[in-house]
Amino acid sequence: MNEQMTYQHLESIVGMMPGNVYWKNRQGVYLGCNDNAARLVKLSTRHEIIGKKLSDFVPVEIAHQIEKIDDEIMARGEMTTVEENAFDLDGNPAIYLTRKVPLKDSDGSVIGLVGISVDITELKQTEQQLREAKDKAELANRAKSEFLRNISHDLRTPFTGLLGLSNMLYEQETDPIKKEHLGYLVESAQTLLSIIEGVLSLSMVEAENQAIKTTTFNLHELMKKIINLLKLEAEKKQLDLKISIDHQLPVTMVGDAVRLNRILLNLLSNAVKFTEQGSVELSVHMVSQTKNKIKVLFSIKDTGIGIPANKYRDIFKSFNRLTPAYEGVYPGMGIGLYIVKKFVQQLKGKIWVDSKLGEGSAFYCELVFAK
Ligand code: ADP
Repeated sequence: MNEQMTYQHLESIVGMMPGNVYWKNRQGVYLGCNDNAARLVKLSTRHEIIGKKLSDFVPVEIAHQIEKIDDEIMARGEMTTVEENAFDLDGNPAIYLTRKVPLKDSDGSVIGLVGISVDITELKQTEQQLREAKDKAELANRAKSEFLRNISHDLRTPFTGLLGLSNMLYEQETDPIKKEHLGYLVESAQTLLSIIEGVLSLSMVEAENQAIKTTTFNLHELMKKIINLLKLEAEKKQLDLKISIDHQLPVTMVGDAVRLNRILLNLLSNAVKFTEQGSVELSVHMVSQTKNKIKVLFSIKDTGIGIPANKYRDIFKSFNRLTPAYEGVYPGMGIGLYIVKKFVQQLKGKIWVDSKLGEGSAFYCELVFAK
């Protein structure tokens, strides 16, 4: 009685199993299946499958393909998961993910195979649609970057001319009122040019084919040049602009000086921009060195407005600013740090920030150079 109960239980458990479950002998003759599998091949009861072959239900070519795979799995004697093309309940083409497990007797010889399969057609379609959408989005993004690069490049040329000319007029003008107006013109042209430069750098940094250009450069000269570029701005605000170079460092190093220049210039001009009084310091230290390589830590410290700790991550995202430009206090587009981070990543370095609101900020950038 008990045994009878167990058998009935097993029968109904097998019948109700999810997915399509079937088992067959080495010759590919079905020995049983669950209710779902029976329904799929239009049988009214699942026991009707016994003695049938796959070719009784699907076109011969498809049956052959699947049986060939089954034979290989039985010959290897190992469980395998495969994707199979067959049909769904309505007879429409469908893709199944099937786990095929060789059935073994007590001696370990393979006597057949159990298959458990689920219809993954919808999943596959969604996957395909996602892939297509991603490709489209990437294409559109590339086109946008290309467009930005072209337009900002074309804009830069006439703007440089405009700036040069208005600068010349400003220098020559003796009438104080006219000179003041020309001063505004120069300033506006300068601001516009720096916006164009920003967009150009952004599209350049996003272009995938930006190769790393390695040259031998003089670290002292590079740092001094950057400091010189910001001297005027710092003097205007009466900031103490300092530079400090670790004497352990070699004078020349080998690496991408163009990217390093951009990184330091961006960080330093931010430091000057966001500091109203006190100092801005650019310093460089040696972290470690091997026979050929040297790890260097650049720090850019200021005594400016500071950055709240919960914004450390946000400031490195593109177009992210803590003080909106439209308020006019600190102009900028919010792409400087995004570009810096991209460049640091391309150079396989690290960048992080440490700051206290109202007390100042310190940006650290660790990079490896060749000696
Ligand atoms: P931008 O300077 O054009 O706004 P960035 O990407 O260089 O863009 O900087 C993003 C934001 O991070 C800035 O708008 C500012 O809010 C904050 N930030 C960057 N550097 C500093 C700094 N040295 N001190 C205070 N805030 C800073």
